[in-house]
Amino acid sequence: MTHAASCIFCKIVAGDIPSRKVYEDDDIFAFHDIHPWAPVHFLLVPKAHIPSMAQVGAEHEALMGRMLTLAPRLALQEGCNPYPQGGFRILCNTGVEGGQEVQHLHLHVMGGPRPWLKG
Ligand code: AMP
Ligand code: ZN
Repeated sequence: MTHAASCIFCKIVAGDIPSRKVYEDDDIFAFHDIHPWAPVHFLLVPKAHIPSMAQVGAEHEALMGRMLTLAPRLALQEGCNPYPQGGFRILCNTGVEGGQEVQHLHLHVMGGPRPWLKG
């Protein structure tokens, strides 16, 4: 497993920085966003330090597939209302022009009744 010494999400995965955990397995960690935009807002991250979607390759197909297929289940578990009246938004900011602030790949999963802070 690769870690970046100065990476805040690597520190959260390692338990060195506290977080409100949503889910954990051998490869994936999920926790509530510290500044939620929506009634439900958590982040899904690979435990390995992948900086962004720009570095994802064929070797990550299974991991990315697992993250995406976990998202709907965790969304319901965390209080998103069922599709189609409910639903959720999955967002993955990538790079400076993509609005990415933390350089460790993460999927935002947001949901719950509107209005939301953003969007
Ligand atoms: P992004 O702009 O896509 O890189 O999003 C980074 C997200 O990480 C923001 O929504 C922040 O609120 C969130 N965040 C930053 N630090 C923490 C932390 N210590 N615990 C939980 N979420 C965090
Ligand atoms: Zn990291």
